[in-house]
Amino acid sequence: MDVRITYRHTSRLSMRLLKNGTLSISAPMGTPRSVVLEFFERNKPWIEKARQRVARQAQTRQDFFGQLPLHTKAEWSEALLQLQRIIRPILDRHTQEMGVMPSRIMYKATISRWGCCQPRTREICFSIYLLLLPEWCIEHVVVHELAHLLVPNHSAKFYAVMDRHFPRWREARAETKRISRMEDHEK
Ligand SMILES: [Zn+2]
Repeated sequence: MDVRITYRHTSRLSMRLLKNGTLSISAPMGTPRSVVLEFFERNKPWIEKARQRVARQAQTRQDFFGQLPLHTKAEWSEALLQLQRIIRPILDRHTQEMGVMPSRIMYKATISRWGCCQPRTREICFSIYLLLLPEWCIEHVVVHELAHLLVPNHSAKFYAVMDRHFPRWREARAETKRISRMEDHEK
């Protein structure tokens, strides 16, 4: 197992298992190595449980994203075409209504996020895996990224824009998380 020890200004030892399987231990500055080792040994049952949980989550993710095979160029083009067919009318509707215009729309096979926005260049990207979501959840992601052209961060002002242009955003976000079981997904 990959173990990473970080010494920081903290008052106690703590650990967490990262998604990639690395065990990250935080220790107060100056903690002797033997104390860290003892902490590690004592928490082995917890580590084992956490490893099983991470493995289960990885399998769930694999099962979900594996529903859209993208191994060949043909599979990719077909998926891209399908998604563009869904997204274009949504974009047309909302860019008009919100008064924003992205400079470029890109599609990527990202599993870590559904969309992204570079407010500086006004470029927007969407994950091809949006195809695995119902249309209203796709629409939520589109409006979310367009809203970043108005407000770059996730401040109250941003969510006020969401309230105005996609009032069901909370529901859509929860539904998206439920479907993909991506607990860490931001959107
Ligand atoms: Zn965002």
